[in-house]
Amino acid sequence: MSHRLPAVFFGHGNPMNALERNAYTERWSALGTELPRPRAVLAISAHWYVPATLVTAAAHPRTIHDFGGFPRELYEVEYPAPGDAALAERVQELLAPLAVAGDTGWGLDHGTWSVLTHVYPAADVPVVQLSIDETQPPAFHYALGQRLAPLRDEGILIAGSGNIVHNLHAYAWGRHPAQQFDWATRFEQQARALMDAGEHAPLVDYEALGDDALLSVPTPEHYLPLLYVLGAQQQGERTSYPVEGGDGGSISMLSVRVG
Ligand code: ZN
Repeated sequence: MSHRLPAVFFGHGNPMNALERNAYTERWSALGTELPRPRAVLAISAHWYVPATLVTAAAHPRTIHDFGGFPRELYEVEYPAPGDAALAERVQELLAPLAVAGDTGWGLDHGTWSVLTHVYPAADVPVVQLSIDETQPPAFHYALGQRLAPLRDEGILIAGSGNIVHNLHAYAWGRHPAQQFDWATRFEQQARALMDAGEHAPLVDYEALGDDALLSVPTPEHYLPLLYVLGAQQQGERTSYPVEGGDGGSISMLSVRVG
């Protein structure tokens, strides 16, 4: 009998989703009850994009309000999920000989808590964050996902948080809802077709997919968390999309579940 947990990539979108109740956040809440309850979450957020692979090691990671220009109530959100020292050590063990330092300066950023506050509103599932090393190519991040895959058999929910399409230059500020740009729709469809077929190599080498990919992924940080989730997928496992939709024309809110 398998106790392997799914792995999920969440399209997090606007930080205000933390406070809102909308079609996306309702699906996130539903996922919290649909998914087998994890022992802990390993979160890979677009917003911890630094020149090293680090893992949060604090017993009580702080809630980081890493954005500007939002209403005060968003800065008052606290997500007091505990850390998990054993999980942080296990991540270090799985990724060795890569040196993964334990970090107590960071905490949980909004890529993580704006989603988890809906998935696990009681903040009673421990959370560890893994940073994304900005100096490394996409294949490195996919390989890390592969090496972290055994966590799924140990009660850990691997949760990527970013957006498959994330172009704020093209974003229709203040005009919601906007039609998705054609290039955004095309790239999301292409990515879905590749995921459905289990063809991960072109998604790792996404820059070779052409203009739609380059417009959709103008910078890598919101896309790379997807590669951790795909890397953790096992042969023959199902891929599904528990959340679909877009925001502002140039953000995909697509969530991807494997297993
Ligand atoms: Zn973001």
